Amino acid sequence: MKISVIGTGYVGSVSAACFAELGHEVICVDIDQSKIDQINAGIPPVYEAGLPELMEKHAGKNLSATSDYDLAVRNSEVSFICVGTPSDHQGNIDLSIVKAASAGLGDAIRRKKDYHVIVVKSTVVPGTTEKVVLPIIIGRSGKHPDDFGIAMNPEFLREGRAVHDFMHPDKIVIGSLDRRSGDTVALLYRGLECEITRTNPTTAEMIKYANNAFLAARISFVNEIGNICKELGIDTYEVMKAVGRDFRIGPHFLNSGAGFGGSCFPKDVKALIGKASEMGYEPVLLRSVIAVNDEQPLRMVRLLKNRLGSIRGKKIAVLGLAFKNDTDDIRESRSIPVIKELLRDGAQVSAYDPMANENMRKVFSNIQYCSSARDALYGADACMIMTEWEEFRSLDKEFDVMENRLIIDGRHMLGPRKDIEYLGLCW
Ligand code: NAD
Repeated sequence: MKISVIGTGYVGSVSAACFAELGHEVICVDIDQSKIDQINAGIPPVYEAGLPELMEKHAGKNLSATSDYDLAVRNSEVSFICVGTPSDHQGNIDLSIVKAASAGLGDAIRRKKDYHVIVVKSTVVPGTTEKVVLPIIIGRSGKHPDDFGIAMNPEFLREGRAVHDFMHPDKIVIGSLDRRSGDTVALLYRGLECEITRTNPTTAEMIKYANNAFLAARISFVNEIGNICKELGIDTYEVMKAVGRDFRIGPHFLNSGAGFGGSCFPKDVKALIGKASEMGYEPVLLRSVIAVNDEQPLRMVRLLKNRLGSIRGKKIAVLGLAFKNDTDDIRESRSIPVIKELLRDGAQVSAYDPMANENMRKVFSNIQYCSSARDALYGADACMIMTEWEEFRSLDKEFDVMENRLIIDGRHMLGPRKDIEYLGLCW
């Protein structure tokens, strides 16, 4: 089939390349010309394992990019909205980009005779597809709702494993108001071995939020248990390993540490809090999920100051800037509040991340960026591990170059070792 993908960030570029791999003809739309040029040259606009190979294979064949909505809609049967849905200054969802994309699609559909399906893939609060996107499309296209299709198809991929997750999903959810729209979207996933959950758009939207809120709550829960364990001198990893053997709980997502970041969990939990409050419901648990998460990085800095006293003028090495391993994405990374606190207290920060130095440079221009962990550790008074990059697990002799061998580990990467003061955040 012929597909257009509106917005070519992490979700859009991965979806576009994977749909191309599934044999569809895909045309991407973005407002960022550099991303368009990259895709047309077969270069991924974001870092994701497996994406370069897919882009190179399909660009110039069944994958292309443009800034022209008309061209994209004319040459496709289905359009996926994959633009960002950031938080506004109060933490509620900011739908302005979704509205702009919907308006662009509505205008383009006005000039098209054939049936066209619009699919919202962006994470949007329940009710958005029906109450925000649909009226914009109707208004801008001048068409009757029976003359085009509308569906909601949330995305569950994990950054760093996005291509794998798209091609091997554990769930596909399609919410539509009519059977034809939902059937059209379901056809696109033919070839993937996964049961499809069919529902209405509002339920599909809520499934995505419930999914992310549950995972975020699980992380804050294990962090709270970890904090209590730390006070009691108990190894929380031993505790949660046993807890995870309960089939009702399972072994995944039980690692305590510096907390969750990224472009999804923090903003999605906040958006759900905002939506619930708007409806007059006070989401006590969800607010606590965010409160525990906000506290974890600050606990790391407190641990550091307990050991060093004043950190004014001290050199602190921060290892890991990306919000998680295997991505260059720094959005809501737990390293950001840590670095902010360190700078506020007058420390000098030397930082290293295998992928994310350049992205973090846009947030902090006043810290030293290093090209290896060893360079960052050179002469440091302490080291803070913020991201679970595999290469940090094998660090050993590198710590010899520190002025003072103190490690505060926020990701359970290392264990106690000779000649080093090692402090785990929750263990
Ligand atoms: P992103 O910020 O990386 O990408 C958004 C893209 O949209 C950018 O390339 C931007 O230039 C483009 N854009 C902005 N305005 C546009 C317009 N008017 N027309 C066309 N393109 C426009 O965002 P993302 O991380 O890919 O997330 C997209 C959506 O998917 C969000 O709602 C997010 O919550 C959701 N989601 C993200 C992930 C993830 O891991 N990143 C996973 C699941 C769901």
